[in-house]
Amino acid sequence: MGIMDGKTVAIFGVANKRSIAWGITNALLEQGARVVLNYQNERMGEAVAKLVEELPEKPWMAPCDVTDESQIEAFFGKLKDEVGPIDGVVHSVAFAKREELGGEFHNTSWDGYALAQHVSAYSLIPLAKHAAPLMEGRNGSIVCLSYYGAEKVIQGYNVMGVAKAALEANTRYLAASLGEQQIRVNAVSAGPIKTVSAMGVSGFGDILGEVEKRAPLRRNVTQEEVGKASTFLLSDLASGVTGQTLYVDCGISILGL
Ligand code: NAD
Repeated sequence: MGIMDGKTVAIFGVANKRSIAWGITNALLEQGARVVLNYQNERMGEAVAKLVEELPEKPWMAPCDVTDESQIEAFFGKLKDEVGPIDGVVHSVAFAKREELGGEFHNTSWDGYALAQHVSAYSLIPLAKHAAPLMEGRNGSIVCLSYYGAEKVIQGYNVMGVAKAALEANTRYLAASLGEQQIRVNAVSAGPIKTVSAMGVSGFGDILGEVEKRAPLRRNVTQEEVGKASTFLLSDLASGVTGQTLYVDCGISILGL
């Protein structure tokens, strides 16, 4: 018996085996969920298709670039026709140009700022909008992935910190506007994990080292731990929790200087 028995969750953001979304996928499967996946484009689709070969059952998959609302609409339309209703959505998607993830924040360009916001923050809104009808009457749950750089300055994180601040605000506003439909929306603020996206942040290795030295648990969080906490928020065990940011970071965010 798992806490996700009988539930279907759409997961956005699996790129490779290091992806946080892959940790969430495995944690959900362990708890009995059925998962369906997006992939950003055909090239990434091939990598994801290889990756899912290690799962006991091949999940339903379809392409979806989250910056194109027509693709989001098509994704959920196809999902509804081919799979049926769903119970949850995971937004584990972010992008910023490499040149915006380092150097002085006051050199941020409008294009770089807008792109980071579009992919990493705004996209949660159309995703929630088009997923909501598939969760009607099912106490749906949406989870997105944030980072501590949303609220404190983390050197190098720059535009992504501002995008995460917007993402956490979007979480609260969506929780308020979808609450009447009994859809919950929460963010998981994960500690640093070595993934392809994270390696684009200048000085990321130093952040990992610092957390290991200073966090209350004296280590970095794992992909599996973020997967388990996300599964909790997607499950009925969290039925009274919405609009929150849950820190899954070995405690680093509680520290002052
Ligand atoms: P990752 O590179 O494995 O995942 C990022 C995903 O975003 C990829 O699957 C990529 O295909 C997808 N993506 C980017 N642009 C897209 C687009 N236009 N349309 C559709 N998909 C798109 O890296 P990750 O670290 O697993 O990142 C997942 C989430 O976790 C992100 O929101 C990230 O900011 C967040 N996060 C990461 C860390 C960390 O240290 N790794 C910490 C806290 C939060």
